[in-house]
Amino acid sequence: MLSVIIPAYNEEAMLRKAAETIGDMLTYEGIGYELIFVNDGSRDNTQNILEQITAENPRIHYVQLSRNFGKEAAISAGLAMAKGDCAAVMDCDLQHPPKALLEMYRLWEEGFEVIEGVKRTRGKESMAYKVGAKSFYRIMSRSTGIDMTRASDFKLLDRKAIDAVLSLPEYHMFFRALSHWIGFKTASVSFDVQEREAGRSKWSVRKLTKYAVNNIMAFSSVPLQIVTWIGVIAFIVSLVMGVQTLIRYFMGNAAEGFTTVILLLLFLGSIIMIGLGIIGMYIAKIYDEVKRRPRYIITKMK
Ligand code: UDP
Ligand code: MG
Repeated sequence: MLSVIIPAYNEEAMLRKAAETIGDMLTYEGIGYELIFVNDGSRDNTQNILEQITAENPRIHYVQLSRNFGKEAAISAGLAMAKGDCAAVMDCDLQHPPKALLEMYRLWEEGFEVIEGVKRTRGKESMAYKVGAKSFYRIMSRSTGIDMTRASDFKLLDRKAIDAVLSLPEYHMFFRALSHWIGFKTASVSFDVQEREAGRSKWSVRKLTKYAVNNIMAFSSVPLQIVTWIGVIAFIVSLVMGVQTLIRYFMGNAAEGFTTVILLLLFLGSIIMIGLGIIGMYIAKIYDEVKRRPRYIITKMK
């Protein structure tokens, strides 16, 4: 059986359409399935519609989270619920084409254990979003050592891979990269990102920035190394300047230094603060992890 996990946050306009499109296709292909909608603390009518749909069709289930925990948490809640021999994760807005799901399923039947959806084209995005996404994925690719520029959350995992992902204890999970990290026999399916049919994208600039920073920190210590390198460079510059200043002093023509000193103090002061800030952010992440809080809280499920 194939479990399809669909995180939904304020998706009242898309739920029925998504359930029908995906369900009809799988029925037509003769694939046994269950659909698991994860209501990620929606504030609209999502929960009511889910209760109706699940009452009509025994193959459809839902998990209701107690508040908006974010897509990553919704995905892990769905994976934990999945009873299938394999599970796919798809967006509720049908931007991930169901046809590609079929291709993934066929690859799974051939014996692949992790099948990644890879974006062939990215669909409609604003210029700022494109630039932001590009730099984020460049940093992520460098720190994980995997090409992430086309990565998406659209994936199909074998039971073994699902259990591997679920066994990871971290609070800040980054599904896109973890599916690479766990290894296994991997294949990929490329797809064109479709246009969202109804409703709006749930990502604000603030949410995206937070997402980017969190994930970079969850997967890489590059920012900390940058702090060290800036320190090394500052040290080399200070050696050169120090020798030069001493020579000038002994030759009797030391510069009137007030402006220089102020500028240097301000400059080095800010660099130290930024460095401390970066270290502080990592400490905050460590703090989050050691609290051992659950990734999500379930209020209701069926
Ligand atoms: N989503 C979620 N929790 C959130 C934000 C989004 O579960 O906090 C779900 C959303 O319902 C959708 C998927 O994640 O099924 C992708 O969201 P969206 O389409 O808004 O993102 P975009 O396609 O614009 O990247
Ligand atoms: Mg979308």
